[in-house]
Amino acid sequence: MTEFVLPLAATPSVAVAGLQERFAVRRIFCVGRNYAAHARELGNDERDPPFFFTKPADAVVDSGATIPYPPLTANLHHEIELIAAIGKAGLRIPRANALDHVWGYAVGIDLTRRDLQDEAKKAARPWDWSKAFDRSAPCGPLVPALKSGHPSKGRIWLAVDGKVRQDADLAELIWPIADIVSICSEAVELEPGDLIFTGTPAGVGAVRPGETMTGGVDGIGAIEITIGQPAA
Ligand code: MN
Repeated sequence: MTEFVLPLAATPSVAVAGLQERFAVRRIFCVGRNYAAHARELGNDERDPPFFFTKPADAVVDSGATIPYPPLTANLHHEIELIAAIGKAGLRIPRANALDHVWGYAVGIDLTRRDLQDEAKKAARPWDWSKAFDRSAPCGPLVPALKSGHPSKGRIWLAVDGKVRQDADLAELIWPIADIVSICSEAVELEPGDLIFTGTPAGVGAVRPGETMTGGVDGIGAIEITIGQPAA
């Protein structure tokens, strides 16, 4: 048995709706842009093929949490997203089989330090500091696909302190779930425990200390996250 010089870190995990058992998270992949109206609001060509970035697995946070306002930003943005959770490994998964690899779905928020992202884009630098910071991947309870089916339409929305900011439909996804899983698996071998954030619709904006984000996807679930004061 392998022994380690320091105690092992806890395995990052997300809740599963209706179950005591949790879903162990291995990696987090995110689609850069996947709704035409959001691509347009950020000044991008909506016909571009999808691209991916990542967050650390331990960036996941359960619904109901209060997250301290993160450092290095004055423009923390919410991005409501449908998350697909991978349950079956695969490299170069054909689109026709791709949904067989999805164990379940959840509602997540791709928290973004937009000011750092804008600087990174201008300087052609990586997005890590704008996307992959501590607690940047709030994730609501997963619903098994056996229960929810594989969603291709349904309302996706987010409100800040009850005021709706993002309101769209999964039918507007430029690249549906099967395409995203298939395309992602061309670059990396997907493994059970991987989460894929599938992109956000238009209406992204700033969230400040003391504000609460609520969001949901019809037929999948909901999420609620409060932003607290910066950590001392
Ligand atoms: Mn996003």
